[in-house]
Amino acid sequence: MAQTSQNKKDLAQARTKTSFDITDMTNYLYGGAANVEQRRYIIDLIAREPIFNKDDWCWLNHTDAVKRGIAMSTRLAEIKMEHELNDLDFATMVEAIDDTLPILLHNGAFIPVINSQGSDEQIEKWIPLAEKYQIIGCYAQTELGHGSNLSQLETTATFIQETDEWEINSTTFTAAKWWIGGLGAICTHAVVQAKLIIAGKDYGAHVFVVPIRSLDDHKPFPGIQVGDIGPKAYGGFNKMENGFARFNQYRIPRENMLMRFSKVSRDGVYTKPPHSKLSYGSMVLLRSVLIRQMALYLSRATTISTRYLTVRRQFNNPTSRNDIDINPALETQVINYPMVQNRLFPMIAQSYALFAAGSVMMEMYIGLMTGLSSGNIDTLAEVHAMSSALKSYCTTIAAAGAEECRKLMGGHGYSYFTGLAHMFASIVPSNTYEGDNYVLTQQMARYLLKEVKTARTTPDKVTPYSKYLLLALNRDSFAHSRCSVTKAEDWLNPDVQLEVFEHRCARLAFELSDAVDAAGGMEKTIWSDHNMECFRISHAHAQYVMVLWFIQSVRDARNPEMDEERRASPEAITILERLSNLHALHTIQTNLADFTEDAYFSPSQCQSLRAQVKALVASIADQAVGLVDAFDHPDFLLASALGASDGDAYQRLWDKAQTEPLNCREVCDGYEEYIRPLLKKHGELKL
Ligand SMILES: Cc1cc2nc3c(=O)[nH]c(=O)nc-3n(C[C@H](O)[C@H](O)[C@H](O)COP(=O)(O)OP(=O)(O)OC[C@H]3O[C@@H](n4cnc5c(N)ncnc54)[C@H](O)[C@@H]3O)c2cc1C
Repeated sequence: MAQTSQNKKDLAQARTKTSFDITDMTNYLYGGAANVEQRRYIIDLIAREPIFNKDDWCWLNHTDAVKRGIAMSTRLAEIKMEHELNDLDFATMVEAIDDTLPILLHNGAFIPVINSQGSDEQIEKWIPLAEKYQIIGCYAQTELGHGSNLSQLETTATFIQETDEWEINSTTFTAAKWWIGGLGAICTHAVVQAKLIIAGKDYGAHVFVVPIRSLDDHKPFPGIQVGDIGPKAYGGFNKMENGFARFNQYRIPRENMLMRFSKVSRDGVYTKPPHSKLSYGSMVLLRSVLIRQMALYLSRATTISTRYLTVRRQFNNPTSRNDIDINPALETQVINYPMVQNRLFPMIAQSYALFAAGSVMMEMYIGLMTGLSSGNIDTLAEVHAMSSALKSYCTTIAAAGAEECRKLMGGHGYSYFTGLAHMFASIVPSNTYEGDNYVLTQQMARYLLKEVKTARTTPDKVTPYSKYLLLALNRDSFAHSRCSVTKAEDWLNPDVQLEVFEHRCARLAFELSDAVDAAGGMEKTIWSDHNMECFRISHAHAQYVMVLWFIQSVRDARNPEMDEERRASPEAITILERLSNLHALHTIQTNLADFTEDAYFSPSQCQSLRAQVKALVASIADQAVGLVDAFDHPDFLLASALGASDGDAYQRLWDKAQTEPLNCREVCDGYEEYIRPLLKKHGELKL
């Protein structure tokens, strides 16, 4: 009992060291007090519904979990309608539920794809039905044989002029749609990517609204074989019935092809879209949403880890931050070990940077869609490349971060009851879906190669985020340019930090461009040979914009002319500046080879950089608990015995273990069958 109350005391004591107002910081993160209030209201709405209780999740098998997922999905839909909630509120409900439900792709992909690729009449027909959940949809692109390579999808939609219909076929086994969230059980309709064929001519993949199950009895329509693909890695996505489907001469009306951009007339005349990438809008949306999701995930993981490591004590080693003056008889709080701090605190900084990146990426998406609605495609290529690069980078660091948070918590970190195991299983496939994180980096690389060309021919036309390319136009002087840091404090200058990232991006982009040129240009080069370089430049660019956006966000927070929702108090800004510095410098430190291989950094600069990172980590030690409290994740959302807000980690872990069904019996199942025969194999034993 004494130990338990010590846990609570430790966390409460750590909170007293916070030098800024938590509410103020929370408002900064979520863009104002009104957003914070609304988020709390929505999370509370979910927390009060018994169907969303998380206590028995770990005991459910896949079949029971899918049934629960369906029940949760339908209740989610009802709440959305009852309270007339918008998309943002829906996203918050999903955040609060904290599981991937069968219905998610209905709101997350089915509706957005119809809205962005459907004609006005099609939107008018399908969207009201979808919004009232009279139909439930999913998004079926991936096949057994192909996912990344959209051009090789095998499902066909052949125009039958006599009946004015499409005939959908997946004749080969590998053409089966596979992995489709919502297809396994719940959906009535799917937007299906299929190769459009007219009079034997293949016009490539297009999108069709395909009825899957009867609206009367939910039976699959004749000509469709549909089902669930089975359990997934790490027990993740187990309430989601990712499904398969095969189509056999299945007919749908011609007007079920989404025709905002490409069209097919009654007499079978195909009109191509005015721009080949106009359909990218919904992909950009999904990837942009993921960045904010990663902010929420990593901030939760660091919350749990920070709180537990504050109450966990191990050894009685002196550290420069021992609380020995307060508790001379106790062991050291593990959060006081610099090794722990240097693993954990950069991830807190990363979480803050992800919040900033999520907001800017969403603004870019909204800007893109506003432009597209008036026929302006100027930003399409850049926003598409940016969302791809950031999706790849942000999901990578969030998944790696969640796992690092688990390891930080030692043995107990491996318990399901940390709340991290379920979270990790949910985050980790984000590295694969919505575009494999490695394949995706080719988008940014291709975009930058075009920008290099523009920089060479019409330098005033490079976009603001690619302006760094101009640094390297004079290759000779660029090759001799060196980092301007002369003293340790220079590292804390945001302009110097940006200069450093810009130099690295410019070098990597020009090196890739040189390699392609040396091979005879894009047409002749073996593109796959450049995969590694694509990955490097794409992640380098993503890191650059993340650093830039966090710096800008902190500058906005300090700017008296900025909207109130974006501003923060001077005390909060002091800490935000430290976090922004830590994020930038730690990112450099993690990728040091990229800055040294062209001698841009000197050995002494590397040393002073490391010293600054260490100093910055130490400088936020007193703030760590306050910084994670500011993420404002309630206990219902964390669902963690070790990371709850009161710090009562041991008591909660003990209580949770008592709920294990094995503990209901004094003698375990299997004793008579297996254990007893082994123990008695050589006769009775009396000791
Ligand atoms: C949990 C989950 C949910 C999903 N939900 C849906 C859904 O609702 N709807 C849907 O349509 N799809 C869905 N998917 C499918 C998903 O979008 C694809 O699996 C994903 O895009 C990756 O494609 P792939 O499977 O073809 O991978 P592959 O391309 O086969 O990748 C295999 C490996 O090859 C590498 N590779 C492939 N091409 C290249 C290249 N050109 N250069 C270098 N390396 C390469 C990859 O990096 C990877 O390591 C889901 C997947 C998962 C895991």
